[in-house]
Amino acid sequence: SKAQLFEKGTKVNITFNDVAGLDEAKVEVMEIVDFLKNPKKYTSLGGKIPKGALLVGPPGTGKTLLAKAVAGEAQVPFFSMSGSDFVEMFVGVGASRVRDLFKQARDKAPCIVFIDEIDAIGRARGKNAVMSNDERENTLNQLLVEMDGFGGDSGIIILAATNRPDVLDSALLRPGRFDRQISIDVPDVKGREKIFEVHLAPIKKSKDLNIAKLAVQTPGFAGADIANICNEAALFAARKGKTEVDMSDFNDAIDRVIGGLEKKNKIISPDE
Ligand code: ATP
Repeated sequence: SKAQLFEKGTKVNITFNDVAGLDEAKVEVMEIVDFLKNPKKYTSLGGKIPKGALLVGPPGTGKTLLAKAVAGEAQVPFFSMSGSDFVEMFVGVGASRVRDLFKQARDKAPCIVFIDEIDAIGRARGKNAVMSNDERENTLNQLLVEMDGFGGDSGIIILAATNRPDVLDSALLRPGRFDRQISIDVPDVKGREKIFEVHLAPIKKSKDLNIAKLAVQTPGFAGADIANICNEAALFAARKGKTEVDMSDFNDAIDRVIGGLEKKNKIISPDE
């Protein structure tokens, strides 16, 4: 099919300002930005620039956003693919897509290659993978071949995201591959407040809006849920013909998003 399986070296305008909270993770990826911008500073002393880092954390916590921000801060192109895109592919297609992706990345280096849901292709053998085992292994092997094939001076840095680092094939985690892990956690109340601030910025807010209160009302919510709440609240207010979004719209939006999350959890764990 002609379906596009990866984002091809697009320019991104996202910066660290768009990523709220995640202070420790930001410090770690700032080093990667510097590797991309000033590689000679590191290689002149004989050091090898890392090829990749694993972003580990639950869904919706900003892993993709942070990877894009690295590309945006370093002003390099962003390539991406998702491990789950390789599910149900014809034999040989996965490996050739990986080859194709890295060929393009080499042509446009320095750049970031982002692999979302790397566990879909990077699962250790025999741990009931979604893809047929042969095909998954071919895809994984090609990724390892590509990673081993470029040196630290290639200008390519691979960021991969997963919420299941425990199932990954140890071959991926060896030195010279994804030997660094950066953890991205669900935000605490202060983090949620900062995320609300980012997503409330474009919204016409009423004066009664209390951001600290919204953060307190949303324990366990990830950044993606908060972005969703802000959008839903704006739509609730618009539906009612209001000219600004107020606290009651946010309460309705929070109820709706909680309802959605409960439904999703029921589907995921039907035994409960
Ligand atoms: P998944 O594992 O499901 O792919 P993810 O961790 O990659 O999730 P993102 O796709 O980066 O999550 O987040 C989805 C959206 O949620 C972002 O585009 C952004 O709007 C919002 N978001 C998540 N985390 C943050 C954050 N820390 N600051 C601001 N916005 C955030």
